Amino acid sequence: MEKFIQTYQDYRKKIKAYHYFGWLMSWDQETEAPDQSIEYRTKQFQVMAEEMYKIESAPEYIDAIDHLYANLDHIQDQDFKTEIKRAYKQLRVIKLVPKDELIAHQVLVSQASHTWAKAKNENNFEMFRPILEKIVEFNRKLVKYLETPELKGYDILLDEYEEGFTQKEYDLFFNTLKTELVPFVKEVTAKKQKFSRKLTHSVFPREQQIKFSQYLIDVFHYDRSRGLLKESAHPFTSGVSSTDTRITTHYYENNLVSSIFSTIHEMGHAIYELQNDPKYDDTYLHGGTSLGIHESQSRMYENMLGRSKAFWTVHYPKLVELFPKQLKHVTLEEFHRYINRAERSLIRTEADELTYALHVMVRYELEKGMISGKIKVKDLPKKWNKLMGEFVGIKPKTDKEGVLQDVHWSGGMLGYFPTYALGSAYAAQMYQAMNQELNIEEALSSNNILAINAWLKEHVHQFASSKSPKEILLIATKEAFNPMYYVNYLKNKFQR
Ligand SMILES: [Zn+2]
Repeated sequence: MEKFIQTYQDYRKKIKAYHYFGWLMSWDQETEAPDQSIEYRTKQFQVMAEEMYKIESAPEYIDAIDHLYANLDHIQDQDFKTEIKRAYKQLRVIKLVPKDELIAHQVLVSQASHTWAKAKNENNFEMFRPILEKIVEFNRKLVKYLETPELKGYDILLDEYEEGFTQKEYDLFFNTLKTELVPFVKEVTAKKQKFSRKLTHSVFPREQQIKFSQYLIDVFHYDRSRGLLKESAHPFTSGVSSTDTRITTHYYENNLVSSIFSTIHEMGHAIYELQNDPKYDDTYLHGGTSLGIHESQSRMYENMLGRSKAFWTVHYPKLVELFPKQLKHVTLEEFHRYINRAERSLIRTEADELTYALHVMVRYELEKGMISGKIKVKDLPKKWNKLMGEFVGIKPKTDKEGVLQDVHWSGGMLGYFPTYALGSAYAAQMYQAMNQELNIEEALSSNNILAINAWLKEHVHQFASSKSPKEILLIATKEAFNPMYYVNYLKNKFQR
């Protein structure tokens, strides 16, 4: 037993080091690397992917995991037990998927986002179609390789991103949204709201926006000694440990609030990981437990804290100070209404809080169809537009604003999107629970976000991924998942 534990730990150390270099490479690629560096980097990446595969599939390592898994009852440490269970589960990929297929897929997706970006820019779905077909084909084979008596088809991919959530549960969730939310959204968005041209047509200099994002870092107590803020085409969070979790944002000079809410959103992700118990840093348990729980944190910071009246009552003066001309005569009330406006729109990442989940629903239905084989990649643009019409009530005129808008599928990620909607729903349930122990509005009004961070640390963040999403939700809210918290939250907030 001791011998296997030692072997396991030695390999884990090596694997984590390789992950670290891969992580640095992709951080560099997304934030700093020049355009033409891709080919050279891909070559290096390929070598590393092969080395990594050798280590992760080393018989000695697999053997250790198998032995430890077979002797789970003799392992006292709960966290170590959880880790072995996960490692064993992940081994299925290495044990069951042929090596050449796996590596070919990794190389394909490491380049695919480049082609996707080009196709999107040129509004040319045909350019991306052959790659997406290969990605879907791989995933259809993957689910066959990995199927178990309990999990088959799309369920395998869903479970990969949100342990314990399958089509059955997502169908229930999305059906609730279809019944409750789709008609409500149509009703609320029927009337267009008007806002001062100062908000919608001013120029907001980049330098000033950077200053405000830097100000927000301090407001939310995102620790500068363990994190940093850069720029990238699409904002994201990327971390390796409780001492290094970085974020990016994007500044648009014709849009004041985009960078603000991206920064707050990503800080929600980052604070989650920075507040993981440091004891998990050298294990596989560091990091968020699932995408859904991760997204619940970012959305709580962004939408529930960051778009609240209490928050802006404190911080709007600072914004006016940075943009005195542009915000002259724009009242706090109008600004608050503006950042909480709801309208039917085409782009998911720009969608408001009310309509967001409906965009996700479109992708869920399409992924389900692609994996089951009912929907062919070549028919995606048409199907996309049809579902957008049904759920969101608006249809794109171009694929750039339609099926080509998201990077995820080019990264090989199918089963990922639904977690975005789930995250908002978790957040609503958690907010309710937190508000029973802590007066959130009062904390925001007194600029005491530390108290909110502390509650989340105790009830969610500290556990890292040592608990499953369902366990975390139960600890934090003392209840199982209930989508009605989300529906009621939205109806309360957006009822006009
Ligand atoms: Zn996010």
